[in-house]
Amino acid sequence: MAELNLILLGPPGAGKGTQATNLTADFGLPHIATGDILRAAVAGETDLGKEAKRFMDAGDLVPDSVITGVILERVAEDDARDGFVLDGFPRTVDQADSLGKELEARERRLTGVLLIDTPDDVVIKRISGRRVSRKTGRIYHVDFDPPTHEGRCDVDGSELIQRDDDREETVRKRLVVYHEQTEPLIAYYEDLGLLRRIDGTRSPSEVHAHIRATIATLRLEDEL
Ligand code: AMP
Repeated sequence: MAELNLILLGPPGAGKGTQATNLTADFGLPHIATGDILRAAVAGETDLGKEAKRFMDAGDLVPDSVITGVILERVAEDDARDGFVLDGFPRTVDQADSLGKELEARERRLTGVLLIDTPDDVVIKRISGRRVSRKTGRIYHVDFDPPTHEGRCDVDGSELIQRDDDREETVRKRLVVYHEQTEPLIAYYEDLGLLRRIDGTRSPSEVHAHIRATIATLRLEDEL
């Protein structure tokens, strides 16, 4: 079977993380989430984390020079040999160029880029109610997916917190950054014939079903 090399594209709060987790379960592919890698680096106070923190707190992108090398190395690791799900990378045209060159140098190519299309007002409502367990990583929503006991993770009772960058003013900034710097990737991957659009306003299970159907089609096209 050919490699399954996927990118999930879309604004913050589109559901990329949720769907990447589904795809990991479906296909056994590693979920490479730049945001998670950066947050772990910040928590571990590594050099990467120290460099990245102030950009993240402000809702800005971490400079390409800081993040690109980390992700390209990750994609080249053994567990990503049969494919990967990239979530949160690339976020700029330069990052997309770097990824394209790296894959080409290894005689690999992208299978598809799935755009989870979600308007700003939906995203703001979702993110401002998002809560996460720092311990288990499980994500909740105060209205749409509340935990059984308020403020506590269903898995182990650990405390649920709001990510620093999930506060409304930071979310608005992240959306501006998305429209300015990441949205050009839609045309970029459309030109390469790789873009597939998914309606991100649907329920998580409907989005999942649409993504699976899209991947099945991509695989068929890949075999032709
Ligand atoms: P996320 O969890 O994907 O929304 O990422 C959280 C934050 O990490 C972003 O707001 C950025 O500050 C930073 N970040 C994540 N991925 C990238 C990337 N590909 N390039 C630059 N900064 C990134």
